[in-house]
Amino acid sequence: MPDQAWHAATGETVLGELGTTREGLSSEEAARRLERYGPNTLKGADAVSPLGIFLHQFTSPLIYVLVVAFLVTVAIEHYADATVIALVLIINAVIGFVQEYRAENAMAALADLVSPDARVRRDGRVQSIDSNRLVPGDVVTLESGDVVPTDLRLLETTDLRIDTAVLTGESVPVSRSPEPVNADSPVVDRSNMAHMGTAVATGRAVGVVVATGEDTRIGTIAGEVRGTERTATPLQTRMRVFGNRISVAVLAVAVGLLGVGLQQGIPLVEVFLLAVATAVAAIPEGLPVVMTVALAVSVRRMAGRNAVIRRLPAVETLGSCSVIVSDKTGTITENRMTVEHLWTPEGTVTVTGAGDAASGEFRRDGEAIVPGEYPALCEALRAGTLANEASLETAADGTLTGIGDPTETALLVAGRKGGLPAADDDRPRVGHRPFESDRRYAASAHAAPDGDAVTYVKGAPERVVGMCESAYAPGSAAGAPFDTEAALEAAEAFADDGLRVIAMARGEGDLTDRDPAGLSFLGFAGMLDPPRQGVPEAIESCRSAGIRVSMVTGDHASTARAIAAAVGIDVDRVLTGAEVAELDDDELTERLHDTAVFARIAPTQKHRIVTLLKDDGEVVAVTGDGVNDAPALKAAHIGAAMGITGTDVAKEASEMVLTDDNFATIYAAVEEGRTVFSNIRKATMFLLSTGVALVAAILATFLLVVWGVIPRGTAGAFPLLLLPAQALWLNVVNNGIQDVALAFEPGETEQFHRPPHPPDEGLLSRPLLERTFLVGGTLAGLAVAVFRVEIADSALAYAQTAALTTMVVSMALFLGTCRSETRWVLGKHPLSNPVLFVGTLAALVVHVGVLHFGPTQALLNLEPIALETWLRILLVAPSVLVVAELHKRIRGRPVGE
Ligand code: ADP
Ligand code: MG
Repeated sequence: MPDQAWHAATGETVLGELGTTREGLSSEEAARRLERYGPNTLKGADAVSPLGIFLHQFTSPLIYVLVVAFLVTVAIEHYADATVIALVLIINAVIGFVQEYRAENAMAALADLVSPDARVRRDGRVQSIDSNRLVPGDVVTLESGDVVPTDLRLLETTDLRIDTAVLTGESVPVSRSPEPVNADSPVVDRSNMAHMGTAVATGRAVGVVVATGEDTRIGTIAGEVRGTERTATPLQTRMRVFGNRISVAVLAVAVGLLGVGLQQGIPLVEVFLLAVATAVAAIPEGLPVVMTVALAVSVRRMAGRNAVIRRLPAVETLGSCSVIVSDKTGTITENRMTVEHLWTPEGTVTVTGAGDAASGEFRRDGEAIVPGEYPALCEALRAGTLANEASLETAADGTLTGIGDPTETALLVAGRKGGLPAADDDRPRVGHRPFESDRRYAASAHAAPDGDAVTYVKGAPERVVGMCESAYAPGSAAGAPFDTEAALEAAEAFADDGLRVIAMARGEGDLTDRDPAGLSFLGFAGMLDPPRQGVPEAIESCRSAGIRVSMVTGDHASTARAIAAAVGIDVDRVLTGAEVAELDDDELTERLHDTAVFARIAPTQKHRIVTLLKDDGEVVAVTGDGVNDAPALKAAHIGAAMGITGTDVAKEASEMVLTDDNFATIYAAVEEGRTVFSNIRKATMFLLSTGVALVAAILATFLLVVWGVIPRGTAGAFPLLLLPAQALWLNVVNNGIQDVALAFEPGETEQFHRPPHPPDEGLLSRPLLERTFLVGGTLAGLAVAVFRVEIADSALAYAQTAALTTMVVSMALFLGTCRSETRWVLGKHPLSNPVLFVGTLAALVVHVGVLHFGPTQALLNLEPIALETWLRILLVAPSVLVVAELHKRIRGRPVGE
């Protein structure tokens, strides 16, 4: 059947055409079809092209300067320099390529970690599979928050509304139902189809796969809607701008030197060499690579701590996060619910046995009771199990595993303990309204054994109590008088103990379009959801890191207060949704400053809170799981979706996914965010200092020669401190190994004990800039001094080698002090960053090797140096350490204070 026709046929015809049934395919058939139709993926959606990444390495002004330098050295027939510059260009491109390619692939692999699963019926049971393994004929179930995994013809729907914005631009979700429609209706009107990439806003559905991969509607639409945008992070953008400025400045200086040199009567070739040497020395080629590596290291570390980054810029934003707005259920608590108490007008009973254990008894006043003897209790348990979408699987040893929402599985377990049968086959379901956060109740209509329909409702106490007119009395249609006050008091008492309260009720008749009314009240279940381990500690850490924590929950104020108090969130002030609704934006913003607990909050109010916090200048991280959380997740600087309980829609709206749903993970990610910022800052300082040192040294030597302080030497050539090739060797290879190593520096605890840095704070603070120039100047001074001493009685190449070696040794020492912005260099264990330790050693060993290896000697124009020179160098080099560390002492903390 052609694509166009699926919507016009009946469900049965479609199933027949596709060679399948409502029970789905067998796994063998599915495997055959997968072979034939290929995986359910869109080609070229976000594949990273290696060639693109390689070419990208050559598109920076820093590189253009090198290319010019290469051409100039070729023109003046300095082939050794030209070769080195060419090599550097290639090495730089290769290193950049490898790093960027690895980073891209790592990101892609992480994306796979959180890629959506689809629920399909295969071999007669519902299973969760990777959605790229779907094949035509598979029968798939959908629920609110799912992103439709491929094109489906709907077979059954309950309340289904789909957000088709990706395909049609239509922003209001549209209703969907299985009835056939006119064959020539346009795509938007094919109301029995659900297309790949659209999102389920509400309801549930079952559909059969009619097309996968490129054959889907979105697959046939060209590029624009697919593909992931690769955005540079703010810091990367700033670095790029910064790099461009340096390049321009460098070119200006080089041209200036050219003029001055010619005017001084220095031969053109030598002036050119001088200009080129300065230019290549000043360019921080390593900067983009350090950024990429630092971000990649950080993303990997975050993933190791259960925070999977979906958008790279979030890595940086995390470092300046100032408020965390967290859900309660599942994030601060374990989301492992157990019904502990049941209240009915007949009295309170306690249920024993924790978690999913099937064994446990009902007790009243310490005595075991038989629940079957209490009609309201029995009906309450029944309501809890019927108005329910979860299921229980019994293992061989009798333990139960809940599948579905923990609130619902807890009620199933309670029903099992209370002796309800596993399947209520004599009460077939005739109508169903699943739980949605906005609605706060779930309802299910059943054909009673006597033939009439009965509707069971369970939900938030105020909501359900409001629907009740009487209390349940067995056999009496009118019911018993209902003491609303007493009931709500009982609910309040449960909530005060931190229990989540669910009310149960029943009514005669089927479900209608409206909310149920005129019900008979049955009772309450109070369920315990213990706080997660590690959360109080994480909240304490946030406090000392200057990050405020707010808990925003749909749950009852008393429950919220009890849990908040248990984990150390400030409960002096609690705002409820009703109160929030009364406040205008200014008033609410005012209250946000000192209120940390928000209860009975609707998803739209959560969005409002996040937006106001943002407008108030905070950097906001927010957690979310439901489809209704998507706007808040999008609005926040850092949307953090739940990995386990979160819906696809929530994940797609987020910057980050918490694979363990744990609050403590957000804090861990913030720590890593601060660390990466600091490491990038350290590497920048290191690179800039060495650049400053090289330029200052070359310029100073030039001036000193012009003024006659440094002799012109015997060979007659103009005594340049370093040849372009030597400057590059130092700048790119030697420093390159070392600055990247700074990206691997572990976090420093003092970073976690000060307030977040403002997001727009410059990369280098005042003190760090001072240190850059101070150290740069010192390094230059040392190199020039050694050069001056050596050139007095040696050849130019020897003096140059000595100057270069002075730089190499003193920069290695300086690297050690860069490891911490504030701490004394020896306060850090050398092996706490093995990459740096090995990198530094390698840089030194390689340098000595280069001095003694024939070909490199020739290429870089170096000579081995005598022991005496070595001693001289080793004597003066440590002064860099002294200068840098003294400055640390004097200027104290570099940021925030
Ligand atoms: P949260 O997850 O922050 O506690 P929800 O919006 O999920 O907020 O729940 C709000 C209220 O709705 C809960 O306090 C509870 O009374 C009720 N509720 C939650 N889950 C269910 C469910 N599956 N069925 C019926 N009622 C529920
Ligand atoms: Mg919930």
